[in-house]
Amino acid sequence: MTATVSSIEDNPKNNSLIWIDESFAKLKAYHATGATRSREWRVKQLKQLDKLVDEHQEDIQKALNADLGKCEMESWISEIGYIKSEIKHTLKHLKRWMKVKKVSSPMLAQPGKSYLHPEPLGTVLIIGAWNYPFQLVIAPLIAAISAGNCAILKPSELSERTSSLLAKLVPQYLDNDAIAVVEGAKDQTSRLLKQPFDHMFYTGGETVGKIVMRAAAEHLTPVTLELGGKSPCIVDADTNLSVTAARIVWGKWMNAGQTCVAPDYVLVMEGHEQALIGELKNQLKKQYSDDPLASDDYGKIVNQRHFVRLASYLEDQPIAHGGHSNLAECYIEPTILLNPSLDSAVMQEEIFGPILPIITVKNIDAAVEFVNQRAKPLALYVFSKSKAKQDDVLTRTSAGSVCVNDGMMFMVNPELPFGGVGHSGMGSYHGKWGFDTFSHLKSVMKRSFWFDLDVRYAPFSKTKLSLLKRLQ
Ligand code: NAD
Repeated sequence: MTATVSSIEDNPKNNSLIWIDESFAKLKAYHATGATRSREWRVKQLKQLDKLVDEHQEDIQKALNADLGKCEMESWISEIGYIKSEIKHTLKHLKRWMKVKKVSSPMLAQPGKSYLHPEPLGTVLIIGAWNYPFQLVIAPLIAAISAGNCAILKPSELSERTSSLLAKLVPQYLDNDAIAVVEGAKDQTSRLLKQPFDHMFYTGGETVGKIVMRAAAEHLTPVTLELGGKSPCIVDADTNLSVTAARIVWGKWMNAGQTCVAPDYVLVMEGHEQALIGELKNQLKKQYSDDPLASDDYGKIVNQRHFVRLASYLEDQPIAHGGHSNLAECYIEPTILLNPSLDSAVMQEEIFGPILPIITVKNIDAAVEFVNQRAKPLALYVFSKSKAKQDDVLTRTSAGSVCVNDGMMFMVNPELPFGGVGHSGMGSYHGKWGFDTFSHLKSVMKRSFWFDLDVRYAPFSKTKLSLLKRLQ
């Protein structure tokens, strides 16, 4: 089965406000029937999702390329292949995750048995961002399905080709009574946020994150906020410089720097900045050639608004490499800045683009202090051969995830939870962590009738109290 990429106009219904209300009511009613609770339903949906990916790999790739200039390899690593691994991992472990677990019971509750019983939350909302527009909607969906929920997906309107494709394909493969796609922007999202969902899972910037949390508070809906921020990368003097540079270039300039966990800036030890810049330049040339604009492997900025935002970061800045741009192509060359003013916008805001400021610091202590003076980041990177320095940075800083001696490789391990801390977000997902996010762990105690110790019943007495104290 193949499908061509459609536009919102091809699906006139899925962005109307009435349709949003109706879909929510329909999904909620369906969840109440219990149809999504069985393992069979969950497994069937996950297999169908896998089939969707297999049968439309090319369409997904084309949409990602149209939205962000993503090449086939990058699309596979960070979106298509990533989703296939997540489905495989979930299918492999689902039975175990769903198991009711027995825990011990105290003396006072004897005879009795205690259990942890994971149950679906109900009908959930998943709002995605534009930078990994397929993965950021489908990975939370895998988690929501694995936990037995109904879900409404709201892909980002900024990556409109991927959004349209999802709106077209999801109804063809998944249970329409349980999963719906709403396309659109602020109006549609605002309408969705008014509904009493059982969970809201949001990926995007901090400003809208606060809007989501405020709306959720109205219905006491729990939220997961997958936000961003400025992720630091500390480069010690004692490192393997060429491998360090190769890995920084990979992590920073993938998707033209539009990655929530890309290193936002580098902290390098004084006197080592030129050597690092030299190696970064070598690696940029090796990975994206002398003319990244002509390289199929280098992405584009999502739209002209973001291009203008990024271009403004370069005005009057100390450019150590790059700096060229082309509005018509939404292209900004991989650019390195050396010691820009810490008060300038590029060091105050999340860059989320292909510009890498390098800041020199005296030593690891100064780097740690620099990080700790700012909001807790989504990711932190430290490159050093010294285990003592690695551990020092690990124990004295806080971040959603840390990678020692590499860029964002923690993303490939489904055993590691992915999520922020403080201003970079709350809650997590991937693998079992996603199942847990979309489940309620119900406490269950089962008692029998055959022995009914009356110590807790009135009338109370000193004897009963002393017996109770001994039983605890
Ligand atoms: P975006 O513009 O795509 O917005 C995200 C979602 O919010 C979209 O679905 C959009 O329709 C909705 N939205 C926008 N304005 C709204 C409003 N006023 N009311 C209600 N909904 C609204 O994405 P963005 O915010 O530009 O995303 C970039 C940010 O996301 C960066 O900070 C990045 O670090 C972060 N991010 C985080 C992760 C993560 O996994 N933690 C992943 C990707 C991006």
